[in-house]
Amino acid sequence: MQNNTLKEIGEQLLSANRILLFPHMQIDGDAYGSAVALCYALRNLGKDAYVLLEDKVPAFLSFLTQDFCLEGEPPFESADISIAIDCSDVERFEKRKDCFFRGKTSVCLDHHMTTKVFADYNYIDAKAAATGEIIYDLLKVIDCEFSPLISDALYAAITTDTGNFRYSNTTKRTHMIVADLYDKGLNHAKVCVEIYENVRKERIALSANVLKDLHIFCEGKAGLVSVTQKMLRDNHASLEETEGIIDTLKSIEGIEIAVLLKEKEDDLIKVSLRAKSYGNVAEIAKSFHGGGHIKAAGCTIHSPLADAKKMIIQAVEKELAKGSSL
Ligand code: 5GP
Ligand code: MN
Repeated sequence: MQNNTLKEIGEQLLSANRILLFPHMQIDGDAYGSAVALCYALRNLGKDAYVLLEDKVPAFLSFLTQDFCLEGEPPFESADISIAIDCSDVERFEKRKDCFFRGKTSVCLDHHMTTKVFADYNYIDAKAAATGEIIYDLLKVIDCEFSPLISDALYAAITTDTGNFRYSNTTKRTHMIVADLYDKGLNHAKVCVEIYENVRKERIALSANVLKDLHIFCEGKAGLVSVTQKMLRDNHASLEETEGIIDTLKSIEGIEIAVLLKEKEDDLIKVSLRAKSYGNVAEIAKSFHGGGHIKAAGCTIHSPLADAKKMIIQAVEKELAKGSSL
């Protein structure tokens, strides 16, 4: 796929007035931080821009919410430009796709390797640690002034998608961008407290409950845990509050692949997969019609939890049987 340049995309934005931004569903820090930063910048340029959402923003990101973040219908029938943010395919904004394609021109800004082309203009950089890095570059290209709020939002995007600068997607460039954000008014301590140190105690209890039933397999190289609907009820916690559990699992000595199964409904299991150094979890996710990055991917399995568990264990065993080339 041939990318457009950020200059070409920037020119489209500058010549538009009504602009809608579409971060992916099950919104995360990168999708939301990137969308809020870009929307804020477009508004500073006098554009009629909104972020359109299809689900509730998780509590740890609510500090970023602005009046221009809308759930439901947009304030106009069709946009001059619709921009998909951090979305590797149309299914990532399924409920809003009609509205997206009503836009006169469409743009996709993303960093997922498995991206399927669906927009008129595309800038997809799988080397970017976060879509937030791409938004930073775009704002530079359109000569936009960075405010403290834009800096905080981009930092939120980058810190969350890099596991707070721990994952191997983190590069020198990631740090250079963040260094520049400090000059633009970033308050990193405030953002970190909002994101990492504002956890409900019920969520910690859920995490303890889930990790207690840890299943280690493949001679200690793989670990799997499940969150059932009952666990959520018992701990008065929500599915979104399972975020982070997989990182604890992956941090265990010797674990190469970590799996978290989330029972959304009886026969609807959302799977999160992470690899530490040499495993390729994007391959595993793809075999279940999902996707993502080599070291962080996901999919949905339409089976009871016990069956999904068996299928995933088999797929992980197959992947780990390939061994390490490191
Ligand atoms: P998470 O485990 O945090 O939900 O997702 C990890 C990564 O995999 C994210 O980059 C996300 O975009 C991708 N991902 C998760 N679930 C799916 C899915 O069902 N389909 C696709 N294409 N990507 C997914
Ligand atoms: Mn991302």
